[in-house]
Amino acid sequence: MNHMPRFETQGLAALEARLSGDLEALELPAKPWVPERTVGGRRVHDVVIVGAGMCGLAAAARLKLLGIDNVLAVDAAEAGREGPWVTFARMETLRSPKTLAGPSLGLASLTFRAWFTAQFGEREWEVLDKIPKDQWMAYLVWYRRVLDLPVRNGVRVTDVRGEGELVRVRCEGAMDTVLLARHLVLATGRSGLGGAQTPRFLEGIDRRFWAHSVDRIDFGALAGKRVAVIGAGASAMDNAATALEAGAGSVDMLIRRREMPRINKLTGIGSPGVVHGLHRLPDEWKWRFLAYAADEQVPPPRASTLRVSRHPNARFLLGCAVHAAIEENGALRLETSLGPLRADYLIAATGFANDLSGRLEFAAIAPHVRTWGDGRQPAAAGGRRPGFSDAPDLGPDFEFRERVTGSCPILRRIHCFNDAAMLTHGKVSGDIPAVSAGADRLARGIAAELLAADVEAHFERLQAYDTPELRGDEWVDAAPLLVRDRAS
Ligand SMILES: Cc1cc2nc3c(=O)[nH]c(=O)nc-3n(C[C@H](O)[C@H](O)[C@H](O)COP(=O)(O)OP(=O)(O)OC[C@H]3O[C@@H](n4cnc5c(N)ncnc54)[C@H](O)[C@@H]3O)c2cc1C
Repeated sequence: MNHMPRFETQGLAALEARLSGDLEALELPAKPWVPERTVGGRRVHDVVIVGAGMCGLAAAARLKLLGIDNVLAVDAAEAGREGPWVTFARMETLRSPKTLAGPSLGLASLTFRAWFTAQFGEREWEVLDKIPKDQWMAYLVWYRRVLDLPVRNGVRVTDVRGEGELVRVRCEGAMDTVLLARHLVLATGRSGLGGAQTPRFLEGIDRRFWAHSVDRIDFGALAGKRVAVIGAGASAMDNAATALEAGAGSVDMLIRRREMPRINKLTGIGSPGVVHGLHRLPDEWKWRFLAYAADEQVPPPRASTLRVSRHPNARFLLGCAVHAAIEENGALRLETSLGPLRADYLIAATGFANDLSGRLEFAAIAPHVRTWGDGRQPAAAGGRRPGFSDAPDLGPDFEFRERVTGSCPILRRIHCFNDAAMLTHGKVSGDIPAVSAGADRLARGIAAELLAADVEAHFERLQAYDTPELRGDEWVDAAPLLVRDRAS
């Protein structure tokens, strides 16, 4: 097949015209069809989305295309600063390959590739290796604008609870109000159902001496200092590299494993089968796949690892488990399986927890949310497993389930569209590769729920619909003639 450039460098205006033509050809967005609801004269939103990062935007876009347009997404971050990309992500480029269709929802002109080549051309595309993280953020900003998605920034959701059949969502910040929603989507990101996971031994240690990798860190202040980083994942490398580039005196990578993970197992079997089928496998199989992948661990990207190892003052300490941290003479003494180590500053790149009770905004619903550890966990899994046993046990539309039936019925209208959904739904609500499939699953589920909830109104519409397709002048009823002829 000849290689022909598929996207031309005609600028974003031309791309946007093309996208608009594509949508028109596909009759998208569908006409709004959900009956309007008000309570005491107040408008009820069909869907409120907490979080306007990639998942929140993809969900808002898919709902819009399905004709569900009474939607609002809110994000605590300023516009253009949602998610990790230009805040605590300290890598230079994305890990993901540039060719992924990401949140484009099956529309070629909505892909990163179309956006990039429209501005920089096919030749630049060919030489682009990985997507610079700031550029990915710029693409998401465009995605939101070109689809005219309803997002309010600077708005933090601080409380979520049921009010009859509706979800009551308390918002603070740029919009100080209470929203009522028929469905709530939690697109709150990797830390969305908990927060940073921090080793116990750091409890009580003065924050002058340590940070989690998601924290704001003054890397300039680490110049000349002894820095230790716990972890061997992407964030561990990116934080270590940033400290080294800022002039850290030394950086020790404290890696519990004796071997660095080298193979990205789940990426290796990525396929439409896994995207659309993993969530329908028996629970035993889901658990086996995901627990195996978690045990094998995801390696840090090669470029991020080289970004650390090229510094002569960086040490990779494998088989180095940290047991304790003690403040001593204005620094930390770390007790490790390789003996004591001293550090002026420690960065814990130790990931995120599924701990809903750790999020104040979900305090009202947290005690009622059923987790896999509440009975869904397969017997063969053995005992409790952090990150798995505490994962929410979700329904087919990402909806929460109640721990005790009847204790918090509103949970079935609250959809967990973030990383914590992985055990139930596979990897479709966090990373770039399958986010369109996840958004589609979510939006179709909500569409079906909205139809069912208004079934009487839709039936009335059916009965009331009276636009004829035939005028009555297209035929003549020959039956009377036939009857007359037979009679004569
Ligand atoms: C450092 C880092 C690098 C990554 N690199 C990659 C990569 O290369 N490829 C890949 O596929 N994935 C990567 N990921 C995974 C990444 O998190 C997702 O791809 C992407 O950010 C997921 O989007 P999201 O919408 O789920 O979450 P986010 O982008 O984190 O967005 C969540 C949003 O929710 C908002 N929010 C949360 N709580 C509230 C509240 N109470 N009120 C209002 N707003 C709220 C936050 O402000 C945030 O903007 C990376 C993650 C990290 C942490």
